[in-house]
Amino acid sequence: MQALIIAIGSELTTGEILDTNSQWLSRELNARGIWVRRTMTITDDLDLIVESLCASTETVVITSGGLGPTIDDRTRDAVAKFLGVELEYHESVWDDIQAKFKAFGREAPENNKKQAYIPAGATLLENRFGTASCFAAKMGDRLLFSLPGVPRELKGMFAEACLPMIDDFLMDSGAPAGKIATRLIRIFGMSEAAVDQALADFFEESDARSVGLMASDGVINVRIATRGGPRELDAISEGVRSRIGGSVFGEGGDTLESVVIAECVKRGFKVATVESCTGGLVASRLTDVPGSSDAMMEGLVVYSNEAKTRLAGVDPSIIEKHGAVSAETAEALASSYQKLSGADLVIATTGIAGPGGGSFEKPVGLCYVAACLRGQTEVRKVQFPHDRISNKDRFAKCALDLARRLLHLDSPVFPGISC
Ligand code: ATP
Repeated sequence: MQALIIAIGSELTTGEILDTNSQWLSRELNARGIWVRRTMTITDDLDLIVESLCASTETVVITSGGLGPTIDDRTRDAVAKFLGVELEYHESVWDDIQAKFKAFGREAPENNKKQAYIPAGATLLENRFGTASCFAAKMGDRLLFSLPGVPRELKGMFAEACLPMIDDFLMDSGAPAGKIATRLIRIFGMSEAAVDQALADFFEESDARSVGLMASDGVINVRIATRGGPRELDAISEGVRSRIGGSVFGEGGDTLESVVIAECVKRGFKVATVESCTGGLVASRLTDVPGSSDAMMEGLVVYSNEAKTRLAGVDPSIIEKHGAVSAETAEALASSYQKLSGADLVIATTGIAGPGGGSFEKPVGLCYVAACLRGQTEVRKVQFPHDRISNKDRFAKCALDLARRLLHLDSPVFPGISC
């Protein structure tokens, strides 16, 4: 069974607000075995709404927004026009709206009466979350719901009114049973193209399963969806993991920092950071993780060369000989500070975030990240072409990734520069 979501509102198409309703509805529908084939975002234009409904072929269509009392709320009229019916007045809705206003000590404005009209023949869906009257209508063997735009109202109405009707509809139409189970596999340290290539065979599989790729700020998410139940989900996950290898760092809501903290807590390790170009971002990310105080010990920001020596114990001759941005200095930061702090794991960064400060040998975007685990130090050279803020973000993620690879013996440390 397929669905279409039409988010209506000019504030959405002008970019004033983000269409979060479609995202939320898509997740809810997919979780119930209804594939959302399309989502559309359109303005409050009567003809455009009618046109979009006429072009729909999906079994379930949900509109969001445009049910308010103002002149630009046109969903009711558009649906009536599409169905070829008149709007019908419901006294009970008007009574309800008046009562809701009275409860706040106010008189219902006359134009709210508009909300008591719904297309003739449609089923009124009682809205205890707001004043917009929602409705459901049969379009032959298809089902249409018109829900409010306010996210809180939409969610309440979907759960209370739509889901039971969709369930009944599914049963009546004999649709394939079985919820779609989904899982997100999180990858860092590979390009999107490399992940795509590694999973090429999965993308060619039948539609009983689906594997999708999403890249976001250096993290690649592989989304698996299947109707085959937990076993099938595990099997597909295993297939993805075996093809990707050590670059998989977690699943679902896992982050690089949460994985590092979890592993340190599990092993009773203390972690410290000594950062130059990331200015405390690594420490900040680690302390974003709830319960991080069980592992996080301390963090230094050593921006100047003098601070690298005075606070982190780096031999000044290393900086002098190789420069502050070098594999040797990164190694020295991590290993010296590991001895000095007594932490089990120390994560270090030194690089050039930009926009200035680069040279031919050491361009903007170059960074050396290091991690020292109980005397074993690994260094990785990384380079990014982004702006200052994005470069810092990637440097911090690379440093955390190196640390988690060092912690997980099954994730071989990336080929980098080992001192
Ligand atoms: P109401 O009568 O309760 O206002 P409505 O159906 O007329 O209901 P809209 O006027 O379309 O709702 O939207 C009300 C508000 O809800 C918008 O100003 C916006 O803040 C929010 N909203 C609308 N559509 C969306 C959407 N797709 N995603 C997120 N927020 C939305």
